[in-house]
Amino acid sequence: MSKLQKALFLSDKGYKDLKKAICACTLTNLTMLLPFCVTVMIFSEILTPVANGGNVQWNHIWLLWGVGIISALLVFLAAKNDYRKTYIASYQESNATRLRIADHLRKLPMSFFNTKDLSELTTNMMSDCSSMESLLSSTIPPLIANGITVTLTCILLAFFDWRLALCVFCTVPLAFLIIWLSRKHQIKLFEKQVKAKLNASDQVQEYLEGMKIIKSCGLSGVHFKSLDNALLAMKKIAVKVEMAVGVFMSSASMILQAGIGITIFVGALLLTSGEIELLPLLMFLLMVTRIYGPILSILANLSSLLNLNVVTNRMRTLLTTPAMEGKEKEVSNCDIELSHVTFAYNQENVIKDISCKIPQGSVTALVGPSGSGKSTISKLIARFWDIQKGKITIGGKDIKAMEPESLMSYMSFVFQDVTLFNDTVMNNIRIGNPNATDEQVITAAQAAYCDEFVREMPEGYQTLLGENGSTLSGGERQRISIARALLKNAPIILLDEATASLDPENEVLVQKAIAKLIEGKTVIMIAHRLRTVVDADQIFVLENGKLVESGTHNELMKKQGLYQKLYHIQQESLGWVV
Ligand code: ADP
Repeated sequence: MSKLQKALFLSDKGYKDLKKAICACTLTNLTMLLPFCVTVMIFSEILTPVANGGNVQWNHIWLLWGVGIISALLVFLAAKNDYRKTYIASYQESNATRLRIADHLRKLPMSFFNTKDLSELTTNMMSDCSSMESLLSSTIPPLIANGITVTLTCILLAFFDWRLALCVFCTVPLAFLIIWLSRKHQIKLFEKQVKAKLNASDQVQEYLEGMKIIKSCGLSGVHFKSLDNALLAMKKIAVKVEMAVGVFMSSASMILQAGIGITIFVGALLLTSGEIELLPLLMFLLMVTRIYGPILSILANLSSLLNLNVVTNRMRTLLTTPAMEGKEKEVSNCDIELSHVTFAYNQENVIKDISCKIPQGSVTALVGPSGSGKSTISKLIARFWDIQKGKITIGGKDIKAMEPESLMSYMSFVFQDVTLFNDTVMNNIRIGNPNATDEQVITAAQAAYCDEFVREMPEGYQTLLGENGSTLSGGERQRISIARALLKNAPIILLDEATASLDPENEVLVQKAIAKLIEGKTVIMIAHRLRTVVDADQIFVLENGKLVESGTHNELMKKQGLYQKLYHIQQESLGWVV
């Protein structure tokens, strides 16, 4: 893999396309020289008789006109080909990169997402890919093509008259030096701009997400300082970047174009000393005015290329974070075993040397004070995170050896925070099993007690839920998630505080739906309300990341430990409520 391919994260096809784009761009540049040469020749045909006497050869001129029209046609065809090869190919490549990022994100452990926020990932996928797209289409191919064209022209001019060629190009190194020396300053500013943009998008997202609170607290008219500041900072840095690029580019451009003056001066000297004739000198000067355009474009593109590292850095971090691996696709049974499992989200261990067995077909409840690690254990079993020490097995197979998607196919989740997509109710339930027919979706919805409220919606199952289903109540959301799980029909069910925050009516319906869902399944249930776990086959009591007690409700009550204490506290508080 070449350095450029690596630096730009190009696929093999993308790299091939880039090379084709560079060739197409160079071809366009070279064909553009044709009309120019024809113009020079027409001028020469007209001016030679004026300077040396004689008649203008009109038949030559008409012939040159013909050649001129053909060369214009060639330019058109080359530009069309160039457009197809650069722009369309770069859009395809950036689309492929976005899909590659999305696919890679799917395989990353949750630990990766814990360190990144949503707006950073969105920026990665949208804006960095767009920057890459513009590098591939309007920066790199023209940069290299112009480099080739300028070098060829330089050689051509040197053959014609090396002294004048030297005058034309003597300012080029100086112009490049200015851009090169300014690179550190430009990169620093660009990095600041990227940070400011990220911060602003963070603030905008927070503002939009907090709209409910803002309205309910009557703050809608008040200016939000942090959002204001973030947007202001973004504006300031954008102006600074534009100023800096403007100053460096115009200085480089001025120095570069001083070459015209030098060429005229030296040309005049050579003319007066009789070393060159007027006509060739005029042709040369005509050529000189054309050559600085591509050089300036090289300088401008170089400036954008300096930012390549900043653009690709985040993409590099993302794409080089190792994905979760594993090849095993099947397990023989659904016995779950944790042996000496220790886990930390960051530095501090939140699960400490836990060992336990969850037999297939049993209902296991995880209880304990808030923050004791109940949700974490259920997430570790689903391998949302990889454990640091110990082993978790399903049917005797280490979950780390299992292909992440196959592992997921064995599990259904009913979590408290149900994610709903901006799609129809039908499709939101179908997420449980994308191959399910409409009838199967409706049967699952009926079993999960969703049917009634869904049919009351304006378009029934075809009603769009809007962003994250904000129109649904907590109980309705949860029943949709149970319908999904019913449709998936996975042998292991992870239930996370499913009825903790519901009103009594909703709770009854959710409980009934759950009862259907867990029939004959291996169930791991997290519940704060101990009366809901009384019938569990076994109860694990966690405290501060450790497994402190285990057994059935009756056994634990007899032990008179933490469980009994928690149970009594809850009974008392229930008594107060009544
Ligand atoms: P429980 O479900 O018993 O209330 P959790 O498993 O949610 O407890 O949390 C256990 C500990 O891990 C808590 O101290 C919590 O603050 C911490 N924790 C939970 N999720 C994260 C996370 N994504 N990143 C960092 N710490 C976390």
